[in-house]
Amino acid sequence: MPRLRTPVILASCLALALGACGSSSGGDGAGEEGSGEQASLEVVASFYPLEYLVERVAGDRADLTVLTGAGADPHDAELSPRAVGTVGSADLVVYSSGLQAAVDDAVAAQAPDDALDVTPVADLMAVGEDAEEHAAHADEHAGEGEDEHAGEGDGHDHGGEDPHFWLDTERYGEVARAIADRLAEIDPEGADTYKTNAAAVVEDLRALDEDYTAGLAQCESRDLVTTHEAFGYLAARYDLHQLGITGISPDSEPSPARLAEVSAQVEDLDVTTIYAEPILSDAIASTVAQETGTQVLTLDPVESLTDASAGEDYLEVMRANLDALTEGLGCS
Ligand SMILES: [Zn+2]
Repeated sequence: MPRLRTPVILASCLALALGACGSSSGGDGAGEEGSGEQASLEVVASFYPLEYLVERVAGDRADLTVLTGAGADPHDAELSPRAVGTVGSADLVVYSSGLQAAVDDAVAAQAPDDALDVTPVADLMAVGEDAEEHAAHADEHAGEGEDEHAGEGDGHDHGGEDPHFWLDTERYGEVARAIADRLAEIDPEGADTYKTNAAAVVEDLRALDEDYTAGLAQCESRDLVTTHEAFGYLAARYDLHQLGITGISPDSEPSPARLAEVSAQVEDLDVTTIYAEPILSDAIASTVAQETGTQVLTLDPVESLTDASAGEDYLEVMRANLDALTEGLGCS
């Protein structure tokens, strides 16, 4: 079990008046008495990127609850008994196995037949090495050899796969389609709506992808220095090289040795920008930036939306990310 550091977090649009649930359609107090179409389905999404897709695909046909609320780090979130109950009573739970162990457990116990696990659809790619190991063993780690980690079972189950599939527009679009298909199975009357809505999402993602491809075509640097290693898909898609300071999970503290190692790499690479994230402390990025005389810009892994997010939804935040990338990498 990885450290469960973050206390939890049920942000139900229905239960908490935080105004923080991304104004999911039908979930903002409109509820059953919403005008026109009624929300017939209760759908739970485990965290923001899935909330966004369900909201777009289901529209008014679902009341949507998100388990990991605004501003919360979805990695390793715990669930309250009430959140577990929400999982149990939902018509459909949309989640990504392997990212949030507490959600995996709740689904297994409460909703094994009423859940859509998008992880197989997203076809996760492997990461080079695991975050906790990286942080814990930074000292012996100069060579990047994989073998030295062989046989170290410290209980976490990231499985060497990068969970941040939503930062790849194509994978994210596939997940939108899978959500539409599953919704159509449980609500056949809405099938056409779901299909049409998913196609609109895919089209938006295709346009976003085109802008990224064009915007990142000519850059002075292709080295992307981030705090937690969330941008592997984005880097792979647009031919950037990600250097994550803390690794794949955001809550591992880099050792002084790791910070020194990263600082040396940053200087070698002639990087001008360290990317920090909105919901994490930027102390790590700032430390490296100070040591290397570089600037800090924000790059948002879109794991959660907050008032500090540089946009109102996934697409807007991703466009702000593109602006930060073109600025920090010197793209023209
Ligand atoms: Zn992450």
